[in-house]
Amino acid sequence: MALLSILHHPDPRLRRKAALVTRFDDALRALIEDLFETMYAAPGTGLAANQVGMSMRLAVMDCSETRSQRIVMINPEIISSDERREMEEGCLSVPDIFDKVQRYNRLHLRALNEFGEPFEVCAFGLMAQCIQHEIDHLDGKLYIDYLSPLKRERIKKKLLKREAA
Ligand SMILES: [Zn+2]
Repeated sequence: MALLSILHHPDPRLRRKAALVTRFDDALRALIEDLFETMYAAPGTGLAANQVGMSMRLAVMDCSETRSQRIVMINPEIISSDERREMEEGCLSVPDIFDKVQRYNRLHLRALNEFGEPFEVCAFGLMAQCIQHEIDHLDGKLYIDYLSPLKRERIKKKLLKREAA
């Protein structure tokens, strides 16, 4: 296993739409282990493959307090969602910045696991929020895109200053 380095906004690789995963082999499962290790070390509740520079529709998550409920979602799709509400959010690619965004509180997810087998899950609260956040990553979107242009500009300046330090 290895710790991977996480890309930070405004890296252009975070803005590309990730490609569908078609090969479910040992290399994919090794990458998944590295993603989990990197996410737990950060620490974070989710990590998308394109946050470490791999253009693949793959994300790992663990929204539990005990850090013991691993979820792998590959080629994920949200089938239905409802109850939008404001939730506090942060992102490992936008370090140390938090803000409120509108997310669906409930959703129905369809995805593949690390063996290419389909599964469906109904999620609510933090897990629903995390799923939307990670799928946004796979589409090249960041949660700060939902904030005002002024706020986004301030965040970008802050992060560029931080990277330069
Ligand atoms: Zn994120």
